[in-house]
Amino acid sequence: MKSKVYFIETGAGEALEGLAEKTKDLFNALEFSSTIKRGDLVGVKTTFGEKNNIGHLKPPLVRAAVDKVRSAGAKPFVVETNTLYIGQRTNAVSHLLHANNHGFTVETVGAPIIIADGLMGENDYTMPLDLPGGLCKMAHIAGGAKAAQGLVFLTHVTGHMLTGMGATLKNIGMGLASRGGKLAMHSGVIPQIIEPDCTACGICADFCSPKAITIKEDFAVIDPKQCIGCGECLAVCPFEAVKVDWGEDTDNVQKKVAEYCVAILKGKEKKSVFFNFITHVTEQCDCMDKVYKPAFEDVGILASRDPLAVEKAAVDVIRESVGEDFFQKSWPDIDYTIQMEHAEKIGLGSTDYELVDVSGSGKKRAAARK
Ligand code: SF4
Ligand code: SF4
Repeated sequence: MKSKVYFIETGAGEALEGLAEKTKDLFNALEFSSTIKRGDLVGVKTTFGEKNNIGHLKPPLVRAAVDKVRSAGAKPFVVETNTLYIGQRTNAVSHLLHANNHGFTVETVGAPIIIADGLMGENDYTMPLDLPGGLCKMAHIAGGAKAAQGLVFLTHVTGHMLTGMGATLKNIGMGLASRGGKLAMHSGVIPQIIEPDCTACGICADFCSPKAITIKEDFAVIDPKQCIGCGECLAVCPFEAVKVDWGEDTDNVQKKVAEYCVAILKGKEKKSVFFNFITHVTEQCDCMDKVYKPAFEDVGILASRDPLAVEKAAVDVIRESVGEDFFQKSWPDIDYTIQMEHAEKIGLGSTDYELVDVSGSGKKRAAARK
């Protein structure tokens, strides 16, 4: 049977109140409350964005999800993990202050915010993995995510410098891995400096959180022992002097992300739902410390109980809306479809889906109120 993916269109630059109501309409379409037990601890996974980046989903959308989880009888909390790279979100203290600065507080989102891998990323639950054709023998996931009884993933769809596409699979697999898990997924991604193109400007070194880059007289040098494979140098170099031999590296990162999705959802497959917001879509992800203009007008919001179906639907809906494969065009050296192919092989979900357009539900709701 095909997985159902619900779609609701959004207008260009639609107000947050409207988007929040549409998020609630999608919860209704998913019949979320039917599978949640009274008192279940349900994590609403989102990200709080990066300093100077405005692409992330905003607090009213998280609030809408929190309210729907609570009205289903469960106990919601907002969940996120620390980043691998050093910055605003490296430990729980600066992470929560940063969230606060971006407007995410208990008052605005309506629930406690929990950094699920602990103060410094030490809250790690290790579980064995034995998936067909799998690369990971173990998964290291955030302890707080493991303990949650249900999960709601609110994902902002973007391009991504390591995986081509950064959406639901990335928000699950990378987003709720512990620091050890994030490292395991990135291992093998070591960029190289194209010396003749490098001007020794030092921008990459400023962005490199583990200080793996030093500037020699004429060019930058990366210490592979220090590099954590975050890919930031690749994104910030203004002279395209940083390259990664993607072939092998991105394939493996994508496959590992898919495998971590299976690990993180294990035991709560029926109590988890997935939203892809196709709004303010940019080539770069929201972890970049910069403002990026959207690549095209807002399209809508997708929701499903199948994480793979909602991912495939995002690709298809964007292609239909803009008339081309946005992710492939943005990152031509990366085959972003590998994450979905592998996810299907290891049983995460199905790319065979039925799209159900519920764009009229808001009008019906307004009519019902009259
Ligand atoms: S940002 Fe680019 S040009 Fe500047 S030092 Fe780094 S690699 Fe060289
Ligand atoms: S990928 Fe680049 S920015 Fe990231 S740790 Fe390695 S050298 Fe530094």
